[in-house]
Amino acid sequence: MRLKGKVTIVTGASRGIGAAIARRFAREGSKVVINYNRSKAEATKLLGEIRKAGGEGIVVKADVSDPADVKRLVKETIESYGRVDILINNAGVMFTQTFLEADDDVWDRTIDVNLKGAYLCAKEVAPIMLKQKRGKIINISSNSGAYHPSAMRFVEYVVSKAGMNGLTKALALKLGPYISVNAILPGWIETEMIAGIPSSTAQAIIEETPLKRNGTPDEVANAAVYLASDESDFVTGELHMVTGGRGMH
Ligand code: NAP
Repeated sequence: MRLKGKVTIVTGASRGIGAAIARRFAREGSKVVINYNRSKAEATKLLGEIRKAGGEGIVVKADVSDPADVKRLVKETIESYGRVDILINNAGVMFTQTFLEADDDVWDRTIDVNLKGAYLCAKEVAPIMLKQKRGKIINISSNSGAYHPSAMRFVEYVVSKAGMNGLTKALALKLGPYISVNAILPGWIETEMIAGIPSSTAQAIIEETPLKRNGTPDEVANAAVYLASDESDFVTGELHMVTGGRGMH
């Protein structure tokens, strides 16, 4: 129960890494706000599982790239629980068209969801956390944003995650001493996001990973628990790699 009594918003928690974080945080004693955009059935099912296991939470539909939706997401959290202790900026998209093929809306959608979404959510919760004199923001970035050569093929995605890394450090400087802001940079994690990647690329990535496998959503959730708990109270502005060693520097 390392997060007992806390209130956590997890964006994009209907599937994949976000769902694993919500599940694990509930098990650690946090109330969880499960945000989704399209996958209502999955989000509702997850809340059912959490409640069945004795946890507490709500489901809120919101597109994180829409300022009005983000305001409502935080408002509904406050109406239900009266505070926000932890924000996990996890919602993300990755389009697999190459730079020369991609339509302009690939750029817009990637930057709007991955980067502007994290910015909007942080902006909305920061005043609440400052009033509480405590809060933790965790951005689920990617080692693509650290310019790992084999990740460079999805230009828009790489730029969005590099932006998230910059946002993490800029917010850590701005929001200390009461709010800590850190990022997790996952390597390849088994979710729907990477399901469409050609098997030759997937195999090459495993070969260049010292631990010789992809990660699991639960392994990202483990890092998130540490960064959300009191155990990381002297850590801020950090880019925490969970990559099996791929892209270390
Ligand atoms: P995923 O399985 O595709 O899940 C993406 C989640 O984001 C879904 O819950 C989706 O919800 C939500 N989402 C998408 N657009 C949204 C929006 N506009 N507003 C709110 N929610 C939205 O992906 P994942 O692998 O779990 O990825 C989670 C995060 O980890 C992303 O930021 C991703 O970039 C990052 N990451 C993943 C990997 C990997 O290898 N899988 C590696 C590095 C970083 P709906 O379905 O309800 O729309």
